[in-house]
Amino acid sequence: MTDATTKETFSFQTEVGQLLDIVAGSLYSNREIFLRELVSNASDACDKLRYETLTNPSLADNTDQFSVSLEIDKKAKTLSVSDNGIGMSHDDLLETLGTIARSGTGAFLESLKDGEKGGLGLIGQFGVGFYSAFMVADNVEVLTRKAGEENSWQWSSDGKGQFTIEPGDRGECGTTVVLHLKKDAKEFLEEARVRHIIKTYSDHISFPVMLGTETLNSASAIWTRAPKDVTKEQHTEFYHHTSHAFDTPWLVLHNRVEGAVSHISLLYIPSTAPFDLYDAERKSHVKLYVNRVFISENTKGLIPTYLRFLRGVVDSEDLSLNVSREMLQSDPKLAKIKTALSKKVIGALKKKAKNAPQEYEDFWQNFGSVLKEGLIEDPSLRDRLLEICLFSSTLNGELTGLSGYVERCKDGQDAIYYMIGEDAKKIAHSPHLEGFRAKGVEVLLLSDHVDEFWLQHITEFEGKTFKSVTRGATDLDKINSDEKADDNKDDADSPALNDLIAAIKLELGEVVKDVRPSKRLTDSPVCLIADDGDMDVNLQRLLKQHGQLTENMPRVLELNPDHKIVRKLAERAKGDGAATDSLLKDAAHLLLDQARIADGEAPADPAEFVRRLSAIMDSAL
Ligand code: ADP
Ligand code: MG
Repeated sequence: MTDATTKETFSFQTEVGQLLDIVAGSLYSNREIFLRELVSNASDACDKLRYETLTNPSLADNTDQFSVSLEIDKKAKTLSVSDNGIGMSHDDLLETLGTIARSGTGAFLESLKDGEKGGLGLIGQFGVGFYSAFMVADNVEVLTRKAGEENSWQWSSDGKGQFTIEPGDRGECGTTVVLHLKKDAKEFLEEARVRHIIKTYSDHISFPVMLGTETLNSASAIWTRAPKDVTKEQHTEFYHHTSHAFDTPWLVLHNRVEGAVSHISLLYIPSTAPFDLYDAERKSHVKLYVNRVFISENTKGLIPTYLRFLRGVVDSEDLSLNVSREMLQSDPKLAKIKTALSKKVIGALKKKAKNAPQEYEDFWQNFGSVLKEGLIEDPSLRDRLLEICLFSSTLNGELTGLSGYVERCKDGQDAIYYMIGEDAKKIAHSPHLEGFRAKGVEVLLLSDHVDEFWLQHITEFEGKTFKSVTRGATDLDKINSDEKADDNKDDADSPALNDLIAAIKLELGEVVKDVRPSKRLTDSPVCLIADDGDMDVNLQRLLKQHGQLTENMPRVLELNPDHKIVRKLAERAKGDGAATDSLLKDAAHLLLDQARIADGEAPADPAEFVRRLSAIMDSAL
């Protein structure tokens, strides 16, 4: 229990200290955003209490008359922001106004450390929440009382490392933030200035923002307005408020659906990837409202996880207000909304991909790998998703869609060829691609984790099957090439080569599944592939990384019959001496290791590798 009569002193968490140093010690061109932040918090507090009163009506002092009030005291040189929202308990104060709770702030601080200048420019846009008050105030007081509690509290700080909490005196629940303005911040005592700031940044707030008896904002939820009545700037401000974002939305989707489950959606796709995009929880960030009443920030079942980059709100009159958040999540109506939203978003993306391909690529760089999760998660929309997926390819290094790929297929090509690896740049140089390049056959280069997994579920697109170039035999000779590549690999099964293959098989034994002449190589002597029906090479690598596979499965070693080394070795393997030829034996291992190295792996036994390499060099010199 806290002693309700004394004043306690606390220190800010280290990160807050750092943040406050930056906030207080710098000059901003747009420090007026402190007001946006405080009004935004006041509005959040009203939203929270309104939700609580759904199940506990006794909590509200003045039912449904939520508002935010500004007060200017020119004499005392204070500006205050009050709300009759949820308020804060002693513990809430300690937890929220002494630490940094908001995700992303840590990363933001990091970025400040790295590029001092760039970061400082960002601060105004980023909004450091409550602490931005210290940009304009040398002292901040917070008088607050939590709904349903007896005690009220006064929090106070000069923003220099410490804050105090003592018992306060407040009749109704809610919070008042009093700013003792700095000498150089007196402009915020001017009504006209304050009015202008609210119009600019906080017009979208759905509760009235009052200055005396005057309402400064439109005070209607922005999503309920007609789409044509909302300006770009208003969207950006609302997006910042609702998403804690600081970029301009890449796309705005504002829709009203009337029907079985009526709903309004105002969705934003960010132009930069949010910090938590790859968090394990894969949370949705679209706020759910039921008939204008805020329900929840991260409603499960509203937005599919593969669209978790979406921000904004969904409001439906057809969902029930009188059930818990948990029960709402399993309401079949919510599932209907989810499907409708998914289709809307995918449709909008398709349009964008068609009409503004360059912009669509920006989107794809940010969120493509997340969107591809939908290929696995949502079989019902799989085909629509495939249509809007982009991939790197061997064709001039640009991104391509699958339809484009299919259009460029050569005569006789019935597969969509792909290669998966960890790094698109590295796989672009892989020996596996040589034969395809020589024939002008395009190969998709896939390097997202998720690629390996959706390809387990999807086998074809527009009648062409997906085929990995690192697994199974190639059918390259069926494809009519338009570049006159040398198709004279007819000596592929010459007797000499067969002798060499036999010698290598004998020497390598179980380590390889087979040794075969290759049709996919032009410049490199060897490569390793997974046999038809075996697990593909990259999947094995992935599973090994995650400890789910201890040993690679033996792979097939392919030899390039036209390669100088292979020809010479084949010459040497003729006749009976092969079995005892130590150079041939060393060469067998070295070829295998070469293939491994080309795949980005290490030689099986580095010491032996070095010994063999030295032996061969020695005999060559
Ligand atoms: P954010 O709004 O992103 O959570 P802030 O720094 O703006 O971050 O605010 C920190 C926290 O302080 C809020 O999440 C909220 O819990 C609490 N808070 C701030 N202002 C108020 C208020 N007027 N009423 C109730 N709680 C508030
Ligand atoms: Mg805030």
